[in-house]
Amino acid sequence: MIWLNRIKLIVMQKIEHIGIAVKDLENANLLFKKLLNQTHYKIEEVVSEGVKTSFFKVGESKIELLQATNNESPIAKFIAKKGEGVHHIAFAVTDIYAEIKRLKSEGFTILNEKPKEGADNKLVAFLHPKSSNGVLIELCQEKERNDK
Ligand code: ZN
Repeated sequence: MIWLNRIKLIVMQKIEHIGIAVKDLENANLLFKKLLNQTHYKIEEVVSEGVKTSFFKVGESKIELLQATNNESPIAKFIAKKGEGVHHIAFAVTDIYAEIKRLKSEGFTILNEKPKEGADNKLVAFLHPKSSNGVLIELCQEKERNDK
């Protein structure tokens, strides 16, 4: 249904990826290669977050495997507390600043109100799992490519 009198242009576009915390990225890559019958298309380290990631494409979405690179990494803490498993769900948004503002006004707890650099050429922000039924939510917006 289209509401012409109150057009809402801000909608989340799709599930961009699902993040999975793993202890051993190399082994997990082999496992997901078997599962998805394809290899990961990139490995990327995000030094500021203390993670090494790999990405698999699954149709319109991706799987992001995350391994901690140090004990202070959020992934190390997550695994220590909960073990390996689904770590976050990431939604693609067109305007991350507008989404942060909207979600804040809806009562969600934003972990970083200033979007930060994520893996895979993205600007990212996270919502505290306490405000979203125990699920860590990531918002991500494709960054402008500056290689033009
Ligand atoms: Zn992610």
